Amino acid sequence: MSIETTPFEIKFSERLQSLPPYLFVEIDRARREAIAAGRDIINLGVGDPDQRTHQVIIDAMKKAVEDVNNHHYPFDAGVPQLRVEIAKWFKNRFAVELEPQTEIYPLIGSKEGIAHLPLGIINPGDKVVLTEPAYPAYQAAVTFAGGKIQYLPLKASHGFLPKIEDIESLKNVKAIFVCYPNNPTAATADKKFYQDLVAVCKSKGIIIVSDLAYSEVYYDGIKPPSILEVEGAKDIAIEFHSFSKTYFMTGWRLGWACGNPKLVSALAKVKSNCDSGVFNAIQYAGIAALNMDPRAIEDMRVEYQTRRDALINGLRAVGWKIDPPQAAFYVWAKLPSKFNDSMSTAKTFLEQADIVVTPGIGFGKSGEGYVRMSLTLPTDRIHEAVARLAKIL
Ligand SMILES: *Cc1c(COP(=O)(O)O)cnc(C)c1O
Repeated sequence: MSIETTPFEIKFSERLQSLPPYLFVEIDRARREAIAAGRDIINLGVGDPDQRTHQVIIDAMKKAVEDVNNHHYPFDAGVPQLRVEIAKWFKNRFAVELEPQTEIYPLIGSKEGIAHLPLGIINPGDKVVLTEPAYPAYQAAVTFAGGKIQYLPLKASHGFLPKIEDIESLKNVKAIFVCYPNNPTAATADKKFYQDLVAVCKSKGIIIVSDLAYSEVYYDGIKPPSILEVEGAKDIAIEFHSFSKTYFMTGWRLGWACGNPKLVSALAKVKSNCDSGVFNAIQYAGIAALNMDPRAIEDMRVEYQTRRDALINGLRAVGWKIDPPQAAFYVWAKLPSKFNDSMSTAKTFLEQADIVVTPGIGFGKSGEGYVRMSLTLPTDRIHEAVARLAKIL
């Protein structure tokens, strides 16, 4: 007797299929080919600091790895001392009190928390507002939870901030995501914006998700505020923080969520069913990072500011007038008039100048007409990039 086998095709889930197509296939291939051909590529496309993690953090990690107590499952909520240190850091930086047990939760990088939170608060069909252009993780996270996305376009004419009256006019919105300092536009928000946002969201029952990954990457001494500085924000907001950019720790995977205890507990519940927390040794490394000499963080800002000025002033001198960012390590540059669209501009830069930039369209419809350039390269490479661009602009 033979067993009937029906041929079948393995298919991705509808949720996976509903993700937008990956736009960078062609340009990624062109970049790989250029590198393989031995061309000296200057990559202004990466959002990953080029500097090494500070030695005090590495040393704390080494010590923690040797401790057998750290070789077991971490408790879900993490090493209690890490949450206490985060609360101290937060008070010192934002003058906001957080209750370590209920209002802070460690994450395997903030992207992990951003991805998991919607599963705890969004029902299929719930409307979620995203600003665009945006960090692509929000879109995926909301889509995976079955949420319906409503986009609010960010315009240069409004400082790349959503208009409060636009939010006011929306109906049946469950949550809104905001990110300031913003990736990719490098725009910042002041406390007044957050006050207005909290007021309108409170009146309409909208949960606010704030992504503050770039809180410590700022220029000219203007510190980005936390939404939690606003009176009453903790009633409706959760904020994501990351060690990645501040401490050059992208590969370590450490961040935290903080704010409204119910929102924090929703995320904690999802996580306890998906992962078992952050490796304890990395949490001890995080404690060392939070207690590091603040001059090291100031040095980072000075370095990025030097690079920013080299790029902006260099390009201005050859006719490309770009507004300098006030925060984050990105330059969001409106295309010079001789270039048509962001994708073909990126291709031209690669083909004619061996320079990689990120086409704005990859961050959303309103990103068209822009390219994003990262400041994660030493100043001499930035000078070289300017010299090359000067020839084709
Ligand atoms: C880099 C980045 C993060 C941080 O992600 P981690 O998972 O903490 O490394 C979060 N949000 C935005 C907008 C980013 O650019």
